[in-house]
Amino acid sequence: MRRVYLISIISLLAVVLTGGGGSQVDLRAAPAGKENLEMCITFDDLPVVRVHDRIQRLMITDDIFYTLEEFGVIAAGFVVGDNIEGDLDILESWLDAGHTLGNHTFSHPDLSEVPAELFINDIRKGEEAIEKILVAAKQKKRYFRYPSLHTGNTFNAKEAVADFLEAQDYIVVPVSIDTDDFAYNLQYEKIEQTGDSLKIIQLGNEYIDHIMERLEAAEQLSEDLLGRQVKHILLLHANRINSTFLADLLAEFSALGYKYISLDNALTDPVYSMPDTYIGPKGLSILERLVKTDPDMLPAREK
Ligand SMILES: [Zn+2]
Repeated sequence: MRRVYLISIISLLAVVLTGGGGSQVDLRAAPAGKENLEMCITFDDLPVVRVHDRIQRLMITDDIFYTLEEFGVIAAGFVVGDNIEGDLDILESWLDAGHTLGNHTFSHPDLSEVPAELFINDIRKGEEAIEKILVAAKQKKRYFRYPSLHTGNTFNAKEAVADFLEAQDYIVVPVSIDTDDFAYNLQYEKIEQTGDSLKIIQLGNEYIDHIMERLEAAEQLSEDLLGRQVKHILLLHANRINSTFLADLLAEFSALGYKYISLDNALTDPVYSMPDTYIGPKGLSILERLVKTDPDMLPAREK
């Protein structure tokens, strides 16, 4: 809302400065060096982050679908097998709507804390949980996202899991924009119980600012590392705060000139196949991983 207000003032100034007519400033034009802005929207912890009853889970899904359709977004979602219980129909509705689904393990283990063998078994179990609906929807490709983006804090663990995923033809899906939407969601749920709608609006503004800050940081890293904007992959969760504020977020992205692309399209960006030598406990985006990777291993900076 504050941004819309700001844009209104700038529009007014533009009219004044140009004598009130003729050449108005196109405020929606992409900033210099930021043409071809593309983004894939992804959601983790499907069917829905489990703190709601069935009716709420259906409503959250409907709200998210409504917004995705409104903005013409084909998204990707990553399923936690243990979250499914009676909600297999919610996952089928993602597939029916043309979205892509991937495996996010069965019980969301943290590879920084559990042995690789246990983690691999959990990937298998997660696969079993969604295999039938993927086959029914004729989605042949298998995608995987690491819980918390933790890819292993020892060389052996990282390699064991990566080797397993490769042998199983999994396509690992990193992100370029990591967010703390889960933390804002916890606050949202607490405020929601008090029924204080003003506080919800305030939190919504803070949440949108947070996501836009993360986007700007990712754009800056992309520019600094590669001299261009990557095909961005945004990480969100299928949760309550996004059921309410996703439309505001997408309106912000669209106003910057972003076009929404599918997961397969995003993954054609070579950044997602660059060497990632980071070993450690942090959940990092692909761009943050490149910062930590030996520069000699990276291809020459793109121009
Ligand atoms: Zn997750």
